[in-house]
Amino acid sequence: MSSGAPRGSGQAVRLPRGASLSDFAERINANPGSLVQEMFNLGEMVTATQSCTDETLLMLGLHLGFEVSIVSPEDEDRELLARFNIDLDADVDEDRMVTRPPVVTVMGHVDHGKTKLLDAIRSANVVEGEAGGITQHIGAYQVHVEHEGEDRAVTFIDTPGHEAFTAMRARGAQATDIVILVVAADDGVMPQTIEALNHAKAADVPIVVAVNKVDKPEANPGKVRQQLTEYGLVAEEYGGDTMFVDISAKSRLNIDGLLEAVLLTADASLDLRAPIDGHAQGLAIEAHLDKGRGPVATVLVGRGTLRVGDSIVAGNAYGRVRAMLDDTGRPLTEAGPACPVAVLGLTAVPGAGDTFLAADDDRTVRQIAEQRQARKRAAEQANLRGRATLETLLEKIKEGERTSLDLIIKGDVSGSVEALEDALVKLPIPEEIQLRIIHRGVGAITENDVNLASASSDATAIIIGFNVRPMQQARELADRSGVEIRYYTVIYQAIEEIEAALKGMLKPEYEEHALGSCEVREVFRSSKVGLIAGCIVRSGLIRRNAKARVVRDGNVVAENVSISSLKRFKDDATEVREGFECGLTLGGYNNLQVEDVIETYEMREKPRV
Ligand code: GDP
Repeated sequence: MSSGAPRGSGQAVRLPRGASLSDFAERINANPGSLVQEMFNLGEMVTATQSCTDETLLMLGLHLGFEVSIVSPEDEDRELLARFNIDLDADVDEDRMVTRPPVVTVMGHVDHGKTKLLDAIRSANVVEGEAGGITQHIGAYQVHVEHEGEDRAVTFIDTPGHEAFTAMRARGAQATDIVILVVAADDGVMPQTIEALNHAKAADVPIVVAVNKVDKPEANPGKVRQQLTEYGLVAEEYGGDTMFVDISAKSRLNIDGLLEAVLLTADASLDLRAPIDGHAQGLAIEAHLDKGRGPVATVLVGRGTLRVGDSIVAGNAYGRVRAMLDDTGRPLTEAGPACPVAVLGLTAVPGAGDTFLAADDDRTVRQIAEQRQARKRAAEQANLRGRATLETLLEKIKEGERTSLDLIIKGDVSGSVEALEDALVKLPIPEEIQLRIIHRGVGAITENDVNLASASSDATAIIIGFNVRPMQQARELADRSGVEIRYYTVIYQAIEEIEAALKGMLKPEYEEHALGSCEVREVFRSSKVGLIAGCIVRSGLIRRNAKARVVRDGNVVAENVSISSLKRFKDDATEVREGFECGLTLGGYNNLQVEDVIETYEMREKPRV
């Protein structure tokens, strides 16, 4: 079957990762529909705007005779940097490698003691006699441990939970080497335990399990071990390879043992060496705008050494490092691999998960930042074009497409989330629409939620916030990616509005609404306008441009005609009421007779029930 897609003869086509058939079509100057058809012939149903997998794009390329190469955002960045003679993967002499501290994220179910544990680790490590500054929250801190006779450092990301972890992963960044999965021994494995576990597994990050709250009388650490075997985490003492450590964050019990386990796991499964020379590169893990000091970004150096005075670019922000502070507020002049520092001197606030790098001069970093900005704007534009809201869903349906509405429900308490979900799934939903609740949860709307909504590329996905608001970054992300968020404080309002929206999305149904009728008393022929009828209005009113039918002796002789002109004596009238005389002409019927009855009506949208 010929579908009109152009055939290439090996021409190169570069596509960004996750491109759609429309993007592909634009590159080869084809009609997107023809590519949809080609994919269909190849046995895959893909819509024009849906983001495609690498395989799909490559397969279609092969089929059509184009040499497709897929460019990931990281590749694009590499190419950009190569233009400035910066090679992120340059080889390094063995003897200039150092063992860097592992970077650890603490995850687990709410209330299982993540925050308490981060506090305990930090305070257990205040070095004696140190004229320490005041501890500052900069997003990460470092502790020192005596391990097998050596002083070893461990870096902790001190935002507990997997939100930050996944937000960074959504940007393709991975700051974490090891996850400590906190499970309360009195509560056992809970939903977020599993979520955290899955995130760590997806990122291929080794896990150390901290079995917390063992000070509690009802603690059952054995049960936690046993429960987790079901999810593939088998304790060493049961012949597996995951270290489980019983601790009490509250009583500061066995924190050393946990740190020991982290280092043992790191040494067994990770290569933690990093070059200490060269331009520093790494990740921004947290950033904010400080009233007095301007943008402050906490960065983790991945390789090289960052120094005060370096020109750096982080995401779209750039500048010169004016000062660096550690997590006790002390100024540093340099920071090596995995050393968390707050950097002052950037022109803007980078995002968490943005990569940073130092370059030779201010001009280079400014140009890199500007080109990244331009690329980001282009990507956002593309995003917005492809995004759907409740309103655009309506258009899809008008075009006869079946479509899905994906909802993410976030609420202040689980009771209201469940009630809302229950009510929504019970809504009478038109069959053209498939309603799916793809995620629900308690708490503020997060970047995770927005990412999830924008990931459902072939459906309209909206987020419902019930008594909750989005976090600032989530709001910005939603704006950028064109994800619709609707807020409610009353359940029935939410239900009514979604229901109304769903109905609004359907082709409206119309019903006839009678306006009035008149009887023909005389007919005249006019050479200019044709047949003119002199009438008397018998009921209701006759309105110019209204729809009409002609009834003769009880039979309809003309249907779907209209009152094309209406006069009261010599003057044009818009409407004439019951009991009055008028002259009119009909559009679409030229055979009126005396005693004909003209019924007029209008079509009104029928409210759906
Ligand atoms: P998060 O939500 O995981 O960050 O949990 P938190 O660190 O805020 O702790 C939740 C609650 O558990 C707090 O009331 C803590 O005091 C308590 N808690 C944390 N660790 C322990 C522990 O080891 N033993 C006991 N008995 N309580 C703990």
